[in-house]
Amino acid sequence: MEQGAIDALLFFLSPAGDERRSYGNPSSIHWAGRQVKGALDDARETIALSLGLSDPNSLCFTGSATEATNMALKGCFFQEKTERTVHIFLSTVEHEATLETARFLEGQGAILHWIPVNAQGALDLVQLETELAATATDKKNFLLVSLMAANNETGVIFPVAAVGELCLRFGALFHVDAAQAWGKVPGFRIDENRVQLASLSAHKIGGPKGVGALFVKKGVKLQPLLHGGAQERKRRAGTVNVGGIASFAAAAKALEKRDLVTIKLYRDGLEAAVKQIPGAHILGTTQPRLVNTTNVLFDGVRGEGLIMGLDLAGFAVSAGSACNSGSINPSHVLLAMGWDKAAAASAVRISLGPSTTLDEIRSFTEALAVVITRIRTRSQLDLPSPRV
Ligand code: PLP
Repeated sequence: MEQGAIDALLFFLSPAGDERRSYGNPSSIHWAGRQVKGALDDARETIALSLGLSDPNSLCFTGSATEATNMALKGCFFQEKTERTVHIFLSTVEHEATLETARFLEGQGAILHWIPVNAQGALDLVQLETELAATATDKKNFLLVSLMAANNETGVIFPVAAVGELCLRFGALFHVDAAQAWGKVPGFRIDENRVQLASLSAHKIGGPKGVGALFVKKGVKLQPLLHGGAQERKRRAGTVNVGGIASFAAAAKALEKRDLVTIKLYRDGLEAAVKQIPGAHILGTTQPRLVNTTNVLFDGVRGEGLIMGLDLAGFAVSAGSACNSGSINPSHVLLAMGWDKAAAASAVRISLGPSTTLDEIRSFTEALAVVITRIRTRSQLDLPSPRV
């Protein structure tokens, strides 16, 4: 976490904080409540500024980007379903937060339109346009497009501006999952002219875990997920996590100083070393990508073995998708890109942080080469070639 984000969090954890300024409930009208309400307002303004939003009140704080996405998709669906048939357009490589929410809504009567990606993870814009055009002809249809700005496994960046244009043309509401893009795409902003809803996550930008936000453009009506008090302009009931939100804002502020150019240089250096290893496939390299992400698989090397070997060497890399009792499920992202099951269970994601050093990258690439050679020597396992 960013130091400023840690300090802000500690301030609100009594007794570390100044109780007179940190104890009150922001919904209370007494002086103690007003003190904390002031901190909450400041945090909202800081985050809005970082995202280029004109209205801080368009941000509704949540417990995560997952909750924000649930709120966006379910909120739209339950708002519209009595009058119209809700159509949700989403890519096959979305985060589980979107996939599972959409599947749940399909069970409630929503119609899902799956937009494919190609072998490089690029969105099929033509297919999206065709499906939007066909669905928009019936005025009883409500069109909701939900796409990620950047993919969490490959780092591939989707063309949000072009999709926003399509949404405007066909009268669709556009929800963007911006959890990965904010803080990692240089100059990332939410374009209020094209995007009506956007999910954000504090821990993805160096803030605390368990805090997120949903951008809701003024005028967009959503049924709330949580009912109760009037917090967050009646959009999300329950006392807000002021300490977490203040810490979230400190992390947003620190993004101004984040050096993405150096992170990209380091990442490119890492990839140059990875490419020296025979049988390495780095994914999405022809596409615009997040500056800190490398998704790679190596012929004949299973993901879990690689992760465990690197773990023993002191490095934490992620599998494409969740592990079940020590083995990795095939990544739905790689499957959608056309790789077979064995390959899709073998890819690993290497992420650099703002504090990653050249020395760490050097020792990582050395360890990687050693672990791969060891695995290949021990095993004769040969992965089938990808269908790409
Ligand atoms: N969307 C994307 C693209 C993500 O990478 C993540 C987290 O990994 C999420 C949504 C969910 O974020 P949170 O952990 O805040 O629920």
